[in-house]
Amino acid sequence: MKLIRTGSTLSLDHPRWQTEAVRTPDTDTYDVLVIGGGPAGLSAALNLGRSLMRVLVVDADRPRNAATLNSHGFLTRDGVAPHELRRMARDELAAYPNIEVRTRVRVLELSRADAGFTASIGRKDPTDVVAARSVLLATGLHETLPDVPNLRGFYGISLFSCAACDAWELRGRRLALIGETTDLADRARLISRWTESLTVFTLGAETVTPEEEAELAASGVAVLRLPIAELVGDRGRIEAIRLTDGTVVTVEGGFVRPEWETDLSFLHGFAPAIDRDGHLITDRSGRTDIPGLYAAGDAAIPGPQQLIVAAGAGARVASVMVHDAVGIATAH
Ligand SMILES: Cc1cc2nc3c(=O)[nH]c(=O)nc-3n(C[C@H](O)[C@H](O)[C@H](O)COP(=O)(O)OP(=O)(O)OC[C@H]3O[C@@H](n4cnc5c(N)ncnc54)[C@H](O)[C@@H]3O)c2cc1C
Repeated sequence: MKLIRTGSTLSLDHPRWQTEAVRTPDTDTYDVLVIGGGPAGLSAALNLGRSLMRVLVVDADRPRNAATLNSHGFLTRDGVAPHELRRMARDELAAYPNIEVRTRVRVLELSRADAGFTASIGRKDPTDVVAARSVLLATGLHETLPDVPNLRGFYGISLFSCAACDAWELRGRRLALIGETTDLADRARLISRWTESLTVFTLGAETVTPEEEAELAASGVAVLRLPIAELVGDRGRIEAIRLTDGTVVTVEGGFVRPEWETDLSFLHGFAPAIDRDGHLITDRSGRTDIPGLYAAGDAAIPGPQQLIVAAGAGARVASVMVHDAVGIATAH
């Protein structure tokens, strides 16, 4: 497939597109800068591109789920490796001459400008500056794991954070739930769907109330409040948890409850509204309170953190951005 330039338009010599034209930008300004090339950003880029937007995706390529070997629950791609899902998506985008994807670089600084936004891009130091009329933040979440020695070595192999994503593979086993947040009892109730042997480790935090502990005990869930000295196992496969008093609990897998935050440190001179947990506030359609600035995926969704949900959010916000660019009301 090759590009044909005729006057102010670009065409493809692809049979389907021979009569169609892709608008050539009259300036170096992109219609949309998508920051983040996970399922949210790539899905948005695909749909924006198909609506003849000139799109630049900038992706540091550090997927949050890189710790795991297989991703589950994405229709037609159940069990796919995280990087493979992205590679397939980028291959699809490569068919569109109006979508550009730059990987392994990040937006180091994003500023507002007269006609939209300017962004400096690079690895550590800026190597390029681009302008865009609108920006989609699809940067995902930054997560901090509970403070347990050697936890990182087990994360994504036998310890996970998303029950909907990984509990099926752990069903019926002796499981642990490790965390320090006040939603631990609710998470324990959820994980109990997949096992009759669950132990909750609160790491010394008083975040499970005595009432919750009694309720969990009634359904066979134990709560242990001492800090963890170490996780025991081999090549990421957890076998036991040793507490600081020497108690050893046998487990065969489990879940952790990380803390999540949206990293907005690259925004320069403006600040979209965030909620008390530091997550971006958007309307139902993904608009932030800054004109021209949108958000989708884990960075914006207060809800299931899942690949297919992020991809759906990307498609939805793309539709909204096209409607906004044309100046028509969005029905959703
Ligand atoms: C261990 C683990 C296992 C998981 N397993 C599953 C599973 O089995 N099934 C499932 O559905 N979900 C799973 N998830 C959740 C899933 O990974 C997320 O819900 C999904 O990746 C969110 O997509 P996103 O596009 O919003 O963000 P992400 O996929 O996190 O992508 C954001 C991208 O933005 C980039 N970025 C960030 N800042 C910048 C910047 N300034 N400039 C440029 N790029 C930037 C990042 O490097 C990253 O590539 C798992 C998560 C974890 C942690």
